[in-house]
Parts: sequence; C-alpha cells; structure tokens
Amino acid sequence: MNVNYLRISVTDRCNLRCTYCSPPGACDFIPHEEILTFEEIERLVGLLAGCGIRKVRLTGGEPLVRKGIVELVRRLAPIEGIEEVSLTTNGVLLAPMAAELKAAGAGRVNISIDSMKLQTYQQMTGFDALPEAISGIHKAIEVGLTPVRINSVIVKGLNDSVEEIEALAGMSMDLAVAVRFIEYCPTDTHTSPASSYVPNSEIRCIIESRLGTLVSVPSGDMDGPAVYFKAPSSAGTIGFISGRSLLFCPTCNRLRLTSDGRVKPCLYAAPDYDLKTLLRSGAGDEQVRDLLRSILRGKGQFTRVNSAVQEFRRFSMQSIGG
Ligand code: SAM
Repeated sequence: MNVNYLRISVTDRCNLRCTYCSPPGACDFIPHEEILTFEEIERLVGLLAGCGIRKVRLTGGEPLVRKGIVELVRRLAPIEGIEEVSLTTNGVLLAPMAAELKAAGAGRVNISIDSMKLQTYQQMTGFDALPEAISGIHKAIEVGLTPVRINSVIVKGLNDSVEEIEALAGMSMDLAVAVRFIEYCPTDTHTSPASSYVPNSEIRCIIESRLGTLVSVPSGDMDGPAVYFKAPSSAGTIGFISGRSLLFCPTCNRLRLTSDGRVKPCLYAAPDYDLKTLLRSGAGDEQVRDLLRSILRGKGQFTRVNSAVQEFRRFSMQSIGG
C-alpha cells in the first residue's frame, strides 16, 4: 500500500472527557515544551511531502483547542505535494471557526458524535455540548468543509440501543454526510472490559433492520480502511471502520505523528520513532529525510497482522491521535 496519508496529533488536550478516550483524571498531559511547535510540524510535513505524503489530517486531543490552529492550517496547506489538509474534531468549537479554517485552506472535517440524545452525549463526553457539535456540522456544510464525515464509536451499555444507532445512521438520510462507525478499541487511559465492544457487523444489521439494505459504494483511493454503503433514498453514506474485527493492515495508507513528536507507522503496534529529539539536536534535512524514508519503507513490517501476538498494544488515543 502506498503510504500517502499523515495524521498529526497537534495536542493531547481536549475539551471533552469521553469515557472511552480521555475520562476525567485518567491522563497526565504532556508538558507544553514537549509538544511540537508549528515550525517543527511544518518542517516535518515538508520533508514527508517529499517522501510521498499527500494528505494531512490534524487531530488530537482536540485540534481546535490548540492555540493558532488556523495559522497551522494556513502554513501546511500550500506545502508542495500536499493535496489536502483536513481535521478530525468533536465539533464543539467548530461553528465560529469554520469559515476561517476554510479560508486558511482546510479541505474537510470529520466530526465525532457518539449520540444524538442529549443525555447520552453528556454521559459519554462529560459535557452538555451536543447542540454546539451539531451546529458545527451545519456550519461545516455551509462553508464547504465537505464532504463532512461523522465519526461514532458504539460502546455497549452506553449508546448501543437500536434507537441510538438509528438516530446516528439516520443523519445520512437527510444530510449529504458520511456517518462512520469506528469499532471501539481498548487504550491505556481506561479499563473498559472487552465486553464494551460492539462489532460493526452487529451495527450494520441494526441499521439494515431500520433503514433498509445497504448497498456498497466505492470509497476514494485515499480513504484507507473505511468501507462505505448507502441506505435506500439516502442523501449521504454510512461507513464502517472495523479496526478490531478485521485486520485491515494491507489497506492501511497512514503514518502518525504524535503531539510530542514521535512517528508511528502503526496505531496498534510498536515501534515509534522520536523525531522531536532528532529535530531539536540540529539534524539537517537530509538526515531527517533518511529516517523518514526508512520508516516508510519499513511500515509493512510493523503491523498487527505481522505481530506474533495479534493483541492490541495499549496506547493513549489523545496523544497519538485517533
Ligand atoms: N477530539 C477529536 C475528536 O473527537 O474527533 C479528535 C481526536 S479523537 C481521539 C479522534 C477519533 O478517535 C474520534 O472519532 C474518537 O471517537 C476516536 N476514538 C477515541 N478513542 C477511541 C477508542 N478507544 N476506540 C475507537 N475510537 C476511538
């Protein structure tokens, strides 16, 4: 697989406390001086563009809480070779920033919403912010940060009822958005039992029982492991990212840059590479590029598929960037 997609966690801080990601008190934040500066991120993206990276996605933590995020988009969008800069956000702060992000060169946004019910949303995120997140979706569509994709993680006992799943999937009936179900995976910040996980095959059955048979639609060639479907007469699509029930390593086209400057070829498997120390030691472009090239060449070896034990290595989602 051609590795053309870089996800950058620009901060490990977040304005929500999702039970399955960064519950209250579960994480120690990385000191500010250990977080990559905009100059360092810009330099790495420039070098990676020279190695074949074409798409960059800013994530976190919550990327919109990073001070100056619009400026970062403005710096990254014109880099030669970069075709798109997009963001993954919980959408809570998006509405007032959407037009500025678009003007700075952002392509599109993924917005994470796990429930359309006020009470469940608050229970899962710790905040009563569903109306803000929904207005973020509408604003993103209005200013053209499209196609908007909604990311939802279903957790048993929290938002796995037929009504909850139907309401999430149902957004694709009226709006030209892709609603994507991401299988919950364990991380180091919480101890949800294995039984919290709902496989996407079950979610698909529930959706088909309410919205009709889903018909497969082609995904873009840079969409990686997501697979997309359409419900009858829907304006948008429904996607599934089945990182837990399927081993999709052969279609994984991404590299990750953590907020503290480590490059990870695989979300689940070791190793990662400390680029920040190399950059801060005064290394020249050629030296940094050599390391990036060797990481890209070796990506295929460091996958869950190739791990002797196909277990999840526990990690902090908000510092790596989900
Ligand atoms: N704050 C932003 C947001 O909410 O989209 C970006 C960071 S968040 C870590 C990125 C994505 O990772 C979200 O869609 C979130 O639902 C997903 N995520 C976080 N923890 C997860 C877990 N344990 N399993 C599966 N997906 C997870």
